[in-house]
Amino acid sequence: MNILDRIRETAKREPEKKAFVFEDEFITYGQLWYRSGVLAKWIEKSSIGPKLPIPVYGHKNSFMLVCFLACVRSGHAYVPMDTNMPEKRIRDILETVNSPVAFFTELPSFETGDIDIIDREKICTILKCAISYGLTDPDSKYENKKDDIHYMIFTSGSTGKPKGVQITTRNLENYLDWAETLVENKSGIFMNQAPFSFDLSVMDTYTGLATGSTVVCLNRKMTENLEKTVDYLKKNKVNYWVSTPSFAELCLGNEKFNGENLPEIKKFLFCGETLTRQLALKLISRFPYTDIINTYGPTETTVCITAVKITEEIINEEEMLPVGYVKAGSGMYAIDKEGGRLSAGERGELVITGNTLSLGYFKNEEQTKKHFYMDTAGNRAYKTGDLGYVNEDGCVYVSGRADDQIKLHGYRIELGDIEKNLAGLKDVDEAAVITEKKDGKINSLAAFILQKPEIDTSYNRRKAIRRELGNRLPAYMVPKKVILLNEFPMTLNGKLDRKKLESML
Ligand code: AMP
Repeated sequence: MNILDRIRETAKREPEKKAFVFEDEFITYGQLWYRSGVLAKWIEKSSIGPKLPIPVYGHKNSFMLVCFLACVRSGHAYVPMDTNMPEKRIRDILETVNSPVAFFTELPSFETGDIDIIDREKICTILKCAISYGLTDPDSKYENKKDDIHYMIFTSGSTGKPKGVQITTRNLENYLDWAETLVENKSGIFMNQAPFSFDLSVMDTYTGLATGSTVVCLNRKMTENLEKTVDYLKKNKVNYWVSTPSFAELCLGNEKFNGENLPEIKKFLFCGETLTRQLALKLISRFPYTDIINTYGPTETTVCITAVKITEEIINEEEMLPVGYVKAGSGMYAIDKEGGRLSAGERGELVITGNTLSLGYFKNEEQTKKHFYMDTAGNRAYKTGDLGYVNEDGCVYVSGRADDQIKLHGYRIELGDIEKNLAGLKDVDEAAVITEKKDGKINSLAAFILQKPEIDTSYNRRKAIRRELGNRLPAYMVPKKVILLNEFPMTLNGKLDRKKLESML
């Protein structure tokens, strides 16, 4: 597949077709192609170094998509940054990427330093100039090559700094060749709920664009009101639901979230975290005619690489729901602690090979070498850190993690990332973050802070720690509880006793 050709074809064939809907606004395929073409020409003429990635900041608005495609069409990767990222994260990303310009489709509440900010006003001026010069088809050819980085998504890193996962256009297209079969290559109406900085959004956004579909975006404010959310999905006749299981769980809190009220939903496409049997059962009883598809994959292997339809039979037979069968062009197997390949059914760390593997982390050789390697069969491989197994039939099961990476309400978090950022705060000697579970699922985080006895332990101090951490990390990474200690419990081996900390909650 050639994704840019696909979008151009739809823009030529059905220019008036809605590509993206944002509450009461929308952008058509014709507008998306034209505007991104004008902006791509502007990028080509400006003095941004060749192939440098360009950050694009904002939440759910049409300028984001125009900027993404403009970057790609001019041969640059784009780096989506959502408004839920705090100043420190944004600064870390801008510093790592080191692009002289960035698109800010919404203005942040902080100074961005030396970087040249291209805001909405400037984008509109560029578009107006193009119109006044009669540039009707800024078209057609583009600079993007298959092995160029298409997008770069920053994920939580255990060192306290986010890691930029580089995905090429070829990776994306290899993924899309398979992803469109999940929706039987049919156009329809996709729901986009995940922010563009979370690669789950690639599933709805690009499968939507590849199939000439309409993508209906839910913004954060709307999802705070479930009634409004359900009405919006109904009004827009959404067919393909794409989210983490957590978001569907949340929606079950509204009684109008059912198949009778939302008969147009054909499929639930889940990814990003464990789909529990309980949730699958609840969904089947509310939506008896809607397919539930469980998919799995890390950002490093382009959205997801396995899928399976979850039926009542599977739910009744399996203790743990499978994540499915590996797509053509990819491979998966488990390894033991020494790196030896395990047989079917044996549990170990899951490894992924194949044509959607990222080139590695941007300017981060150390982390790239740690996770990507050549396996004994001579294939480039990615160590996922997930524990699980592949059964005799090739069906994959994921049962936990080999490290401190967790998923909280669908968000990928390295506990070490929070700990390093806490340890950087004033008067904090050391920090340990642990998870609290409800019904077997991680439900919240708690931070234990080691500080000197003379330092204040009042409520205000705990509140200040949470506030300061919130300036460095997204809100979902700020632990709900902060517990201040003058001494950390240790095991007999002299290691931090995390079990003891858990028992103190
Ligand atoms: P992300 O890179 O944010 O997509 O997170 C990838 C991680 O999410 C994987 O390595 C798994 O730990 C977890 N994950 C993704 N999909 C599933 C799934 N269907 N079941 C269980 N865990 C999942």
